[in-house]
Amino acid sequence: SKLLEIEGLQARVEDKAILRGIDLAVGPGEVHAIMGPNGSGKSTLASVLVGREEYEVLGGQIRFDSQDLLALAPEERARAGLFLAFQYPVEIPGVSNVYFLKAALNAVRQQRGLPELDAVDFLSVVREKLKTVQMDESFLRRSVNEGFSGGEKKRNEVLQMALLEPKLAILDETDSGLDIDALRIVADGVNSLRAPDRSFVVITHYQRLLNYIVPDFVHVLIGGRIVRSGGRELALELEEKGYGWLEEQAAAPV
Ligand code: ADP
Ligand code: MG
Ligand code: MG
Repeated sequence: SKLLEIEGLQARVEDKAILRGIDLAVGPGEVHAIMGPNGSGKSTLASVLVGREEYEVLGGQIRFDSQDLLALAPEERARAGLFLAFQYPVEIPGVSNVYFLKAALNAVRQQRGLPELDAVDFLSVVREKLKTVQMDESFLRRSVNEGFSGGEKKRNEVLQMALLEPKLAILDETDSGLDIDALRIVADGVNSLRAPDRSFVVITHYQRLLNYIVPDFVHVLIGGRIVRSGGRELALELEEKGYGWLEEQAAAPV
């Protein structure tokens, strides 16, 4: 059965209809890419999934791990195993990364009914995770995201993801261009976390990320609807032809 099932999802922000009937099903272990031009509603979809309050759901339903996702508060969604990466690229001067990560993990553990990890136990857990994402321990002592390069911020998010062990991770690519090295680091980290019981929704405007994180399925979002779905080859076709040909089809009356 499916891990995530979205049916007829409609949502608006500030009285503007953005999502106009989204259907999407993600099975365990699958990687789905969502592509589309700027303003097509990709980030809105991610925001609705994690329950950001400024996005109002007007219709449709979302099942996640056999729960009614829309009935859950954002923190309950995190407990259920949903994770949005690149959500808060904020800097928190004076707060060490190790403190931040420990608090984030313990919050989720508490929600899952697991005992809190003390500093010693946390360190041994985080050291393991640092290895899997090939990160340096000096990362832990720095202030959260302060003075981090774009690539380091993303790497830190991958570390957070590795720690929280989500069932479904959503990656919403920021529009700020990562260089090829940073892209590779993020992709390697994500690939190391791929597992039969962990799924990914990778949102991206450009196909180049998908050279590194190879998706099982690609969906094109235009004007708040998924206008085309396919395999990896669809991303390559988009790279070649752009979005124009699909925008014309999307504009045609249904
Ligand atoms: P994408 O991620 O595909 O570029 P978004 O989901 O960010 O698209 O945006 C879709 C549309 O919704 C855009 O027209 C955008 O201006 C609008 N929008 C998104 N978030 C907000 C917001 N918080 N307030 C007002 N308008 C928003
Ligand atoms: Mg955008
Ligand atoms: Mg966006």
